Amino acid sequence: MILVKTASEMKNITKKWKNEGFQIGLVPTMGYLHEGHRSLIRKASDENDRVVVSIFVNPIQFGKNEDLKSYPRDIDHDIAVCKEAGVDAIFHPETSEMYADGFCTYVDMTDLTEALCGKSRPGHFRGVCTVVNKLFNIVNPDKAYFGQKDAQQLAVIKRMVRDLNMDVEIVGCPTVREADGLAKSSRNAYLNEKERKAALVLYRSLLMAKDLLDGGERDSRIIIEAITDHINKEPLAKIDYVEIVDAVSLKKVDRIADDILVAIAVFIGKTRLIDNMIYEI
Ligand code: AMP
Repeated sequence: MILVKTASEMKNITKKWKNEGFQIGLVPTMGYLHEGHRSLIRKASDENDRVVVSIFVNPIQFGKNEDLKSYPRDIDHDIAVCKEAGVDAIFHPETSEMYADGFCTYVDMTDLTEALCGKSRPGHFRGVCTVVNKLFNIVNPDKAYFGQKDAQQLAVIKRMVRDLNMDVEIVGCPTVREADGLAKSSRNAYLNEKERKAALVLYRSLLMAKDLLDGGERDSRIIIEAITDHINKEPLAKIDYVEIVDAVSLKKVDRIADDILVAIAVFIGKTRLIDNMIYEI
């Protein structure tokens, strides 16, 4: 496995692989790798000849008051995980390598980024689209792997690739959960014991929504109210949003007639967690 720090070296390596006829899979991450990331890496290994994992805590996708500084990092652990998973190269650039002095070119998306997390994290998806675009240009992958855990991100990246005619296939991968249902996330490391227990409220509220939908409920307002009431009963939880949107357009849905995304963002103490469920009608 090669640890690559510069864009030019990464480009040379992937160019060589392409010339040799290898298909390349890319798994973009911010590191602190867990079983969720591993599942993406496994799928990428199954479907490609060479796998690149990028590890880069992307500053431009964090808001001013967000957790850029404290975001958990452990590159030695990440290297071990990647080695064990049979990754061919880790791309781990410094911030200055990705954003040289005078950097001023961004990929901005309207519409899809205005809902859900885009509303509470202005500028977040501009940062995501820009860095993912750069990673695609540097690695030139045939396929790139993203988790359903970040449902809006997955939808946004798919749309960017379509709108900008990018030559990469986006593969969505199911959310990996802890045994008790909490979605795996690097940010779970922030939770103390009490908060960890309280965090279960996210998954439970999604199960509650599923029960209502299974029972035939098609009024979004009633489902959102049930979720909201459930989360509000947890003293450590504070809702950022609870929404039911169309699974593709991410537009709000009042009367449920097609596949939907139930998406929630909740602060547990100071930690903002997200989770979601696709419900097929
Ligand atoms: P991150 O390092 O949090 O930016 O995540 C990197 C990639 O891993 C993104 O595509 C995430 O959606 C995906 N991911 C993170 N957590 C999970 C999870 N629990 N299950 C599946 N994919 C995940």
